[in-house]
Amino acid sequence: MKPGKSSARASFSQTGGHIPRKRFGQNFLVDRGVIHAIVAAIDPRPDDTLAEIGPGLGALTEPLLERLGRLHVVEIDRDLITRLRRRFSPEALIAHTGDALAFDFGQLGPNLRVAGNLPYNISTPLLFHLSAFADRIRDMHCMLQKEVVERMVALPGSPAYGRLSVMLQYRFHLEKLFDVPPECFHPSPRVRSAVVRLLPRSSAERALCDVALLERIVAAAFSQRRKMLRNTLKALFAEEELAALNIAPEKRAEDIPLAGFIALANFWRPGAKK
Ligand code: SAM
Repeated sequence: MKPGKSSARASFSQTGGHIPRKRFGQNFLVDRGVIHAIVAAIDPRPDDTLAEIGPGLGALTEPLLERLGRLHVVEIDRDLITRLRRRFSPEALIAHTGDALAFDFGQLGPNLRVAGNLPYNISTPLLFHLSAFADRIRDMHCMLQKEVVERMVALPGSPAYGRLSVMLQYRFHLEKLFDVPPECFHPSPRVRSAVVRLLPRSSAERALCDVALLERIVAAAFSQRRKMLRNTLKALFAEEELAALNIAPEKRAEDIPLAGFIALANFWRPGAKK
């Protein structure tokens, strides 16, 4: 038998006959130790309201349901939803078929817990979508591409520090938990993965500012990260305004901590600079 055929057959049996769909980022977790470590990090309690994004073939779904009375899942692939519905009772598994990017997580809160081995191709927009529900969320545990996790937790001065770091750190406390190598999945992704915990900051703890404006300033500042703020922010702030906030105009976005961006958002007034 040709090697290609035997590996295709092995692959078929590992997924119970489901052919992984690349467009949905389907790399299924197969390593028992990693599955156990993720569930232990989540530490689900029977009364928790938990939503799993992208349950896939149920690698996390099953151990989560062993600890929970019921579990919400949001899955885009109808074939996988059909399989999950055959396997778990409708009282235990509340299956939402559709795109997590369009799903209203607010309807499941307050105090919602979110978990998932997220589809890597949509991880950044999905994190921004989930951020909008931070006030209804207790915590999130996500597996993502390691490089994305490093950008999420990066601090000023590091090359990984950018728009994702600032906007997520505004909403959440972030903690990288552990790395997961490609061979823990089937099929193996080309990249390394990592698990991260996100705990929403309370509104009391969060310096208030207009989030849309913060997003606009951060996007402009990092649009050309090697350029000085006097250039990247020139459409929004005069040099004297930056200096008044103790932000040297010759600094670059990667040198500015979250508090600096918040100060800029709170300083900006319509008409101050077009
Ligand atoms: N949780 C499973 C595991 O760990 O083995 C599967 C993880 S796999 C990396 C990502 C899962 O997210 C797949 O089941 C895929 O079909 C699903 N998915 C992809 N895009 C999605 C979207 N936009 N909304 C909801 N689910 C999505």
